[in-house]
Parts: sequence; structure tokens; C-alpha cells
Amino acid sequence: MLTTSKIEISKCALENNLRFLKKQMGDEVLVSSVVKGHAYGHSIEKFVPLAEACGVQHFSVFDASEAYRVKMAASNPQTDIMIMGMIDGSQLEWAIENGISFFNFELKRLEEALEASRKVGRPARLHIELETGMNRTGFGSYQLPEVAHLLKTHPEQLRFEGLCTHFAGAESIANYVRIKAQRKAFNHLYKWFKGQGLAPKLRHTACSAAAMRYPPTRMDMVRIGILQYGFWPSRETFIDFSIRSGQTEDPLQRLVAWKSKVMDVKKVKTGEYVGYGTSYLANEAMEIAIVPIGYAHGFSRSLSNQGRVLIHGKRVAVIGMVNMNMICVDISQLDGVERGDEVVMIGRQGDMELSVSSFGEFSEQVNYELLTRLPLDIQRQVVE
Ligand SMILES: *Cc1c(COP(=O)(O)O)cnc(C)c1O
Repeated sequence: MLTTSKIEISKCALENNLRFLKKQMGDEVLVSSVVKGHAYGHSIEKFVPLAEACGVQHFSVFDASEAYRVKMAASNPQTDIMIMGMIDGSQLEWAIENGISFFNFELKRLEEALEASRKVGRPARLHIELETGMNRTGFGSYQLPEVAHLLKTHPEQLRFEGLCTHFAGAESIANYVRIKAQRKAFNHLYKWFKGQGLAPKLRHTACSAAAMRYPPTRMDMVRIGILQYGFWPSRETFIDFSIRSGQTEDPLQRLVAWKSKVMDVKKVKTGEYVGYGTSYLANEAMEIAIVPIGYAHGFSRSLSNQGRVLIHGKRVAVIGMVNMNMICVDISQLDGVERGDEVVMIGRQGDMELSVSSFGEFSEQVNYELLTRLPLDIQRQVVE
């Protein structure tokens, strides 16, 4: 390993999570694997081939550059790619040429897609996104007659691949009323399209939280991000699943483990300070280990005197400030720690696990943010 730490991605954890998802969603529902944000920090280049090997054939991304990377990383000619957010200009032609489908939520893009399709000589595969109450992207109902008109008059260029929407916070029961209204609005507008003689190939509305919590939102396809990586969208989502299924153990397994190794060990005398300044005083003679990871590597400074890592299967404390490239940990309770011994910042060692969420609680980040912020220059390595 050239970097001072590495991030392992577990194949068998992904297999486990996909099996769980398939069982929950049933055979009729297509699972699209959401790989925006560098596949939630796992790396598109590492994750996509792995997911393909586990049977995934549909990927969702935010923009054209991510779609390009998925395309480069994929090897199965059947693999389908869907852009949910930004695409414009010449990217539209590229997407159409390559059979990549994309969301449409404004008329200009729809008109440009029509142009691009004519130029390329292939149909644009469109997902019409509806505004149902999130007030982000999505066609308002007042725009739909024009959308329907375009679809009906250009069936050769504009292929109605999907009708979709996104919920404004399905991971929290506090949003129940809002989500319910969104579901109702979506179903109403779907009927409207049918009344126009327009039927999409796929209807899709659910992210991980909605797919688990509100089964009717699954429809033809679910867009699953965080769950496939082994995390619940929120603690509440897991509790809800647990109550309904009677299962108290978490059926998901985390794919990521973040590991480094001991760079040096030394003794500190009673009454000495450790590291910069006076933030940590040795109250007794102690032994410490120096680990070559710091805030430059994504180990937040707010973990100073707070964080925990695993060494020899035991939880040990970060002492003093987190530096740019190093931390000191207290190993006084351990025997025989040596240079080169494995250090786990996130993941399992022996019977112990340090979760992303306990790491996140200390550094005040949610799972989604923490994962996508794991620095990209840390090597990702697929393991069984
Ligand atoms: C990110 C995203 C998802 C996946 O969300 P998870 O909570 O990670 O499952 C689904 N749909 C859209 C439109 C998204 O942007």
C-alpha cells in the first residue's frame, strides 16, 4: 500500500445486501444501484465491476461525467445507466448515442433532447420527473400538457422510458404527511398520462427509505443507494424494519473498512503532555502508538481526545489533537503492540466493530456525508 491507509470494499457484504434487497423487493422490482458521489465514497471504478459481478445491471448517477465513468468501468453490454440530475449541451448527444437514459424536468432540456436525438439518429430515453411536493426538480402539472404533446408528436425521438419522482425525506416519520401527499400526487399524474394515451415503460419513485418503509412506492423499479452499501438511511428506518419483521439484528453488512497501521510506539512519563500544546496530559506513565492518519486523510479534527480506533481487537482512545497527518492513541492497556500492526478506524477487527455512524456522531456527520467525504486518494481495495 502506497498511501498511509486503505479502504477495503467487501464483496461478500455487497452480496449479502443485494440478497436482502432482492428478498424484500421481490422478483418483479428492478433494483437500480445508485452510484453518485463516487459510489457513496466507495469509488465508481471499484464498485461498478464488483456490483456487475454480483448481478447488478442498472446504475443511477447524478451527472454525465459519472455516467461516463460508469460506462468505462462496466463490462456487461446489458448494463443500463440512468442520469438523475445534470446533463446538457453535447452531453445529451453523447448520452443518446450511448443509450444512456436521463431525467427530464424542464422543457428546454426536452426540446434539446429532441434536437440531439434527430442529430444522432437514435431515440432519447427519457424519464419524466414530476414535481409532487419536494419543490426541487420535476415538471409542474401546468407544464404537463406541453410535455405530453411533445412525447406524442415525436415518438421516434422521445422514448417515454420512465415516470418518476423523489420523496422529500422518506427516512423520517415526521415527513409522513408530506410523503403521503406526494404519493397521491404521483398516482394522480400517472393516471393523467395514461388518459393521454402515454404509458411509461417504468414507474419509479423509491429511494432506500421509501422502498423499505412504503412498499407501494416500489412500483417497477427502486433507486437504491445507501442500503446496498450496508447502511440504513436513518436509525428510524432500521427500527421501523425491525418492528415489522421481528428481526432485531441488522441484516445489512457494511462494505467499507478503513485501515492503517502503527507507525511508531513509545513510552510517555507521568506529567508530560502529548502532542501539540496542552490538550492531553499523561496522568501516569503510559505507552502510546503513532498512526499515520490525520485530518488531511479525512480523520476529522473534532475527533481530538474523542475518537477511538481498534488495535489488537481492542478499542483504544485518540489522545491529544488530531494532526494533519498523524494521531496518537493510548495503548497502555495492550501488550506487545509493534510497528506495522493493523489499526482500524472504521470496520471490524476481531469481535469489535467501529461503525461509520459512531465515527460520524463524534464528527457530526451523517453516514451519507461521511462516506462521500472519505478522501479519494486513499486506495480502495476489493476484498472477498
Ligand atoms: C440519491 C438518490 C437516491 C438514492 O437514495 P438512498 O437514500 O441512498 O437510497 C434515489 N433517488 C434519487 C433521485 C437520488 O438522488
